[in-house]
Amino acid sequence: FDENLSSNKSRKTSAGATPQHVVAEHYNSIEDKGKQRRLESKIIFLRNFNNWVKSVLIGINTPERGVILDIGCGKGGDLLKWGKAKISKLVGLDIAEVSINDAKNRFGKIDQKFDAEFHVFDCFSKRISMIESIKNIKFDVVSMQFCIHYSFETEEKAKMALQNISSNLKKGGSFIGTVPDAYWIVKKLKSLGPDQLEFGNSIYSIRFEQKNDFPTFGHKYWFNLEDAINDCPEYLVHFPTFKRMASEYGLELKYLDRFHDMYDKMKEKRQHRDLLYKMGVIRHKKQPGVMSQDEWEAAGIYKVFEFTKVR
Ligand code: SAM
Repeated sequence: FDENLSSNKSRKTSAGATPQHVVAEHYNSIEDKGKQRRLESKIIFLRNFNNWVKSVLIGINTPERGVILDIGCGKGGDLLKWGKAKISKLVGLDIAEVSINDAKNRFGKIDQKFDAEFHVFDCFSKRISMIESIKNIKFDVVSMQFCIHYSFETEEKAKMALQNISSNLKKGGSFIGTVPDAYWIVKKLKSLGPDQLEFGNSIYSIRFEQKNDFPTFGHKYWFNLEDAINDCPEYLVHFPTFKRMASEYGLELKYLDRFHDMYDKMKEKRQHRDLLYKMGVIRHKKQPGVMSQDEWEAAGIYKVFEFTKVR
């Protein structure tokens, strides 16, 4: 994956829509299933596990009364986690209008102990300081959960994402997130037969269009995840490039781990282990059920990262 690095310019899809519109439309088309249907999902343990990873990450990096910027906040699935971290304010941004409306509704329904505002905004094409109400805020934490990889469509977008993260973060503040592990994905791709471009299991699939060229930006694949993502274009994040670019924006990598390895380490700590039970990742004896092998493999696609703003 380190080899054959080359840059890639912004393209239009055959239908004329930019890839970013395709991503926005994809997320706009996913309905908010509500709690009951989420509980019945085939990927309930995977969802709970991903939520546990985010809860631990948020808990470790968020100061009490913190002011938070959640880029790609989606339908506001992390609102309760921010509440538990006792923040004072959250700004949620997302390119998908339907998701932002869902997030606003969800915030209206929870017992809120913090302020929040939500905006529809393309954070990879425009400076977020354009949003009048937040232009003077410096954030304690910028969170990007399962989102930064969409910016790797082009170098310009990845740079704009980093510009938006860094220029709005306080010195000493944290930039935290979760991202597909490109090394693992490419290893899987390379292990396929000569004509095969797709792999996966009963709950996820990843499909490439080719495997001869390995561009640093715009290295597209199509992702499916049962009950969650339906053939959405995503882009590999070459992490050494991301780390180097981030350091040019004053962000220093503090922690990087695969979800599986983070789980092994964090579950040794009492409070994180207790949370595994509370969040339904591991069930008590009275409640049957366990995460399937296929869900565990899908969890292994991802990595967790923490950067600190050093200048
Ligand atoms: N962070 C949420 C979570 O953890 O559940 C949502 C994750 S979802 C996989 C990725 C989100 O990134 C989507 O809501 C999508 O609309 C958003 N996104 C993609 N490109 C974006 C952009 N250019 N600006 C803002 N949000 C974007």
